[in-house]
Amino acid sequence: MHQLTLAEIARGLADKQFSSEELTKSLLARIAQLDPQLNSFISVTEDLALEQAKAADARRANGESGALLGAPIAHKDLFCTQGIRTSCGSKMLDNFKAPYDATVVAKLASAGAVTLGKTNMDEFAMGSANESSYYGAVKNPWNLEHVPGGSSGGSAAAVAARLLPAATGTDTGGSIRQPAALTNLTGLKPTYGRVSRWGMIAYASSLDQGGPMARTAEDCAILLQGMAGFDANDSTSIDEPVPDYSASLNDSLQGLRVGVPKEYFSAGLDPRIAELIHTSVKELEKLGAVIKEISLPNMQHAIPAYYVIAPAEASSNLSRFDGVRFGYRCEDPKNLIDLYKRSRGEGFGAEVQRRIMVGAYALSAGYYDAYYLKAQKIRRLIKNDFMTAFNEVDIILGPTTPNPAWKLGAKNSDPVAAYLEDVYTITANLAGLPGLSMPAGFVDGLPVGVQLLAPYFQEGRLLNVAHQYQLNTDWHTRTPTGF
Ligand code: GLN
Repeated sequence: MHQLTLAEIARGLADKQFSSEELTKSLLARIAQLDPQLNSFISVTEDLALEQAKAADARRANGESGALLGAPIAHKDLFCTQGIRTSCGSKMLDNFKAPYDATVVAKLASAGAVTLGKTNMDEFAMGSANESSYYGAVKNPWNLEHVPGGSSGGSAAAVAARLLPAATGTDTGGSIRQPAALTNLTGLKPTYGRVSRWGMIAYASSLDQGGPMARTAEDCAILLQGMAGFDANDSTSIDEPVPDYSASLNDSLQGLRVGVPKEYFSAGLDPRIAELIHTSVKELEKLGAVIKEISLPNMQHAIPAYYVIAPAEASSNLSRFDGVRFGYRCEDPKNLIDLYKRSRGEGFGAEVQRRIMVGAYALSAGYYDAYYLKAQKIRRLIKNDFMTAFNEVDIILGPTTPNPAWKLGAKNSDPVAAYLEDVYTITANLAGLPGLSMPAGFVDGLPVGVQLLAPYFQEGRLLNVAHQYQLNTDWHTRTPTGF
């Protein structure tokens, strides 16, 4: 049963081939058996899952239907879940039980999804390797000596290892698409404002966006359908109708204009990945797409701009964790300053502290104009590049990452080397655009992703292109040995 996709599960439940309770029990057993190798879960919510599964079965018995009714999922551990630990991968929130459900959690629960647990992640979603978690590194099921990507590495590893069919993730600079690429999944970062951020613990508020991670585009469509929509509780939520994402999956790609930016094929890109990207371009051409070379001239400035803006916002968002209002409190504080210093010093890991320092510096008097304001101007130039490109093409295609998954620990002493892995993903966050990563082949037995970007609110187009590609390729069906 663990090989089933969300779409197949929906059919199996509708045809009464199995119940949600049976499916949930078998996946919980699989998690207990296999997750010790991967460390992809921070909390497994067995009791809640069985309760939700029984409730879903009862709703079906009463004549209700729906693609998510009885479907097992998990949430990245930064979505607040009422009464359940929501740690954000940090010692700071190790004992935090959220008093309410995030909008995404509540929406999926009301659609009947069954929550198996909360997945491991980089601390406060800062990272590209899932090594900065207080709960330990996550392993890549394709090779247990390699990272699964981050920061939604727990969701990625769990879905790739067939512990469950799909999970939520969040993407501030690539944290859905990059781990999806490194573990052979399909992952979608929606347009900024498409999915509510209410109840998502903030990293960089102007960039954060929740989205689906699954093995197929078809499943991402199902999960996104349950997550998307206007939410009055999120002031940046956008009141746009949510289309039927599954309905457009089979649209023809005849005449689709695909832009391939020439800047993507620079020295930093592994030539074997470049080769696979060219192969995926040819695949789309066979399906009727028209390929065009385009240019994104300001792309080279994206990493420096992001690594000013994201830490700046993080330094402000994380100031609430002071041991008084929120978060871990140190033992025996001598006075107020000692309490702040030690609570934050002991509660936050090294990468989070580094980002808070960078962000506070970039926002401080005298440096604000030179760094933060400059980065915001670059952000606008990057957005303008995309607007120009989308006058000529319908989607943009390229690699998701410059390299396949690296070895655990390989970039630990060099944070900038890890930041450079975000080169293809962060521009979509800076511009607020939707992006999708899908499996495109293997290098040294490790998965490679191809990224598609589309204009605002064109998630349906991304899912359509990915689904058509997946009907004609079989990379996404490959299973890691041992899982
Ligand atoms: N790797 C990027 C960072 O560390 C992106 C993380 C994310 O998208 N949450 O900031």
